[in-house]
Amino acid sequence: MTEEQSEAVRADAISPDEATVDASLRPERLAEFVGQPKVREQLHLVLESALRRGRPPDHVLLSGPPGLGKTSLAMIIAHELGTPIRVTSGPAIERAGDLAALLTSLTDGEVLFIDEIHRIARPAEELLYMAMEDFRVDVVVGKGPGATAIPLDLAPFTLVGATTRAGLLTGPLRDRFGFTGHMDFYDTAELEQVLERSARLLDVALDPDGAAEIAGRSRGTPRIANRLLRRVRDYAQVRADGTVDRNTAHAALAVYDVDELGLDRLDRAVLDALVRRFGGGPVGVSTLAVAVGEEIETVEEVAEPFLVRAGLLARTPRGRIATPAAWHHLELTPPPPVSPGPSLFDA
Ligand code: ADP
Repeated sequence: MTEEQSEAVRADAISPDEATVDASLRPERLAEFVGQPKVREQLHLVLESALRRGRPPDHVLLSGPPGLGKTSLAMIIAHELGTPIRVTSGPAIERAGDLAALLTSLTDGEVLFIDEIHRIARPAEELLYMAMEDFRVDVVVGKGPGATAIPLDLAPFTLVGATTRAGLLTGPLRDRFGFTGHMDFYDTAELEQVLERSARLLDVALDPDGAAEIAGRSRGTPRIANRLLRRVRDYAQVRADGTVDRNTAHAALAVYDVDELGLDRLDRAVLDALVRRFGGGPVGVSTLAVAVGEEIETVEEVAEPFLVRAGLLARTPRGRIATPAAWHHLELTPPPPVSPGPSLFDA
């Protein structure tokens, strides 16, 4: 299997080409953003009231698995506010000085988007506290006992942070966001809407059955839906008349090794290890990650959220457990439920 095939449904694996397509398919207004009704309504109120007050809104934190539209929402926030947006990410900010330079260059009302904000270096994070709260930073000049902190005022800005791991954010950082939007996986009807919109933009003839077939295998994730649409379009152009219907979608997704639940190689490897090597668990996530040759983070953030949602894997305090549905999915018979130990009264 090629990398391209194995990664067809990995929401975190984005090629530079795909980043360009991602950008071209991004909705620009809140009203165009499909699904997430709760976050959309809450954000609408936050933005509308800020516009009426003529002040930048509170800082916004968006949390949820990759590919659900956090970056898109950050862009929409700037667009709705009519302000520019500066984009960076937690890992890109290595030193507090980098962040101070960025913050002092922001213009009035600008949106600063920090993706993967849970990965920001600690000294930079501490600088961010005061910047978020008082629109001020202390820039330290000199070293050792002679070092002095020079306070600098910042233009009021709105920080939009995105994270796949809200639990890893420190309390002080989390507390400084006035609004947190929790993004959840999309249902099939919502993904069909995303696909219909993308098909229009990409000029692909997509019939409703084709959309349903792709939506059902997209793991609740718009980025994956859009990617599968492009793969199915390729197939339809080469092997059929270019129209994406149920048959072309079905045949194309078989070529790309995306199964009927939308599981890919990594998901199946995790389930396979859990079931065949560890008898269904419980097993710790670090052991599981070693067994499939992946980083713990990848297993936790990419494979597990969907496996849990699909009812195939459970996270318990004692470790990961395969559900009976996981055994059935691998065409195996689950072990009988453990009987409660002998009771005192049996003696
Ligand atoms: P994240 O930042 O959460 O990883 P992105 O905002 O980059 O996700 O979204 C990935 C792609 O999915 C974007 O190109 C966008 O076209 C599409 N997308 C995500 N959410 C939506 C949505 N609600 N409606 C329409 N398209 C969406």
